[in-house]
Amino acid sequence: MQDSAVLNRLTGLRAALAAAGADALLVGQPENRAYLSGFTGSAGWLLIPADAACAPLLATDFRYWEQVRLQSPGYELVKATTTLAAALLEMLAAAGAHRLAFEADHLTYADYQTLSAAAPDIEWVPTKGLVMELRSRKDAAELAAMRRAITLGDEALAAALAQARPGMTERELAWSIESYMRTHGAEAPAFDIIVACGPNGARPHAQPGDAPLVAGEPIVIDMGAKVDGYCSDLTRTVCFGQPNDPDKFWTVYNTVLQAQLAAEAALRPGMAGPDGDAVARDLIAAAGFGEYFGHSLGHGVGLFIHEQPRLSRLSTDVLAPGHVVTVEPGIYLPDWGGVRIEDMVLVTEDGVEVLSRAPKEPIIRGGD
Ligand code: ZN
Ligand code: ZN
Repeated sequence: MQDSAVLNRLTGLRAALAAAGADALLVGQPENRAYLSGFTGSAGWLLIPADAACAPLLATDFRYWEQVRLQSPGYELVKATTTLAAALLEMLAAAGAHRLAFEADHLTYADYQTLSAAAPDIEWVPTKGLVMELRSRKDAAELAAMRRAITLGDEALAAALAQARPGMTERELAWSIESYMRTHGAEAPAFDIIVACGPNGARPHAQPGDAPLVAGEPIVIDMGAKVDGYCSDLTRTVCFGQPNDPDKFWTVYNTVLQAQLAAEAALRPGMAGPDGDAVARDLIAAAGFGEYFGHSLGHGVGLFIHEQPRLSRLSTDVLAPGHVVTVEPGIYLPDWGGVRIEDMVLVTEDGVEVLSRAPKEPIIRGGD
C-alpha cells in the first residue's frame, strides 16, 4: 500500500495527463521520480498510466530492487537487467500505452533517440512542467519536512554566529554552518553556502574564499539545509561591531529590510509574480538603489532549491495557497559590499506565514 501523500500526487498527475491527452507519463527526473513514488535511488524510470485502474510501474536495476519494495510498495517493479530501452518496452506492454507523455525538459536527446527508436509505434508527447506544477503546492508531509529544514537552517546560523570571530575566513564560517547542519539532521547543505565579506558581498552569488572576516564590514551569509529531500534557504547580512561606514550601512540595510517586510506583508494568493516582485523593487528604486537590485525578489523552494513559482519581472506564475517561496531583496554596491535579507514564506488562504525565524538585527558583538 502506497502512502496517502503519494496516492494524492498520482491522482493529481493523472488529471494532468488526461488533460494532455496522453495514456501514460514516463518519468526519469530524479526529484520528480521521488515525489511520485517515494523511491530515492539514483537510477530508475517510472511509467504512470493515466488510467487509475492500472498500477504504476518502476523500472530499475539490481542495486535498488529491495529499496523499491520498501519505498514504493504501490508500484509494480520492472527488473531492468539489460538496457533502459528493453525495460521501457516491458513497461509499455504492461501498461498498454500508445500515446506516451515524456518530460521534454529533462529527457536527454540521446535517450529520446534510443527510446523512440526502440518503440517506433508509440506516439511520443512532449510535456513541460507537468510534475513541477504539482510540486509547487506543498502537501502536509512536504511542509513538515520543509519546516524541519528551515528550523535547522535558523539553528545552524545562530550556532555558527555565536562562535564566529573577525579574522576567521569566509570558508571557515561556511564550514562551521555546514558541519552544524550535517551533525544535526541535514543530509547535505541545500546548496553551496555563500559567505561574502565586504566588497565580496557585491557579487550576489560570491563563493567563500580565504578572505578574513573583517569587523565593521557587511557580511552576506546565504545558506540552507536539505532534510528528507527538502531544501531551506536563508540569507542574513551581519556586521561585527559598529559598521565602518554607518550612514551607508544603515541606509542600505534599512532599505532592504523595509522592502523585504513590505513584500512579506503584501504577498497573497492570486498575486502575479511580477506584482510581488514590484512591491520590493519599487521601494528600493524610490530610495535610489534600483540599479543595484539586479536579481528577482524570490523563487519557489522544495525538492529543488529553485523551482516554481517565481517572483520576478518576467514570471507568469500566480501565487496560490501551498506555495513556499523566498522573499530576498538585496542591494549590491561595487567596492563596498552587499546586503541581502531572505526568508521563506508559505502562501496561505489570505496572505503568507513567514517560516524563517532567524533574527534580522545585523550587529553581532563588538568586533573584538
Ligand atoms: Zn538563498
Ligand atoms: Zn534564494
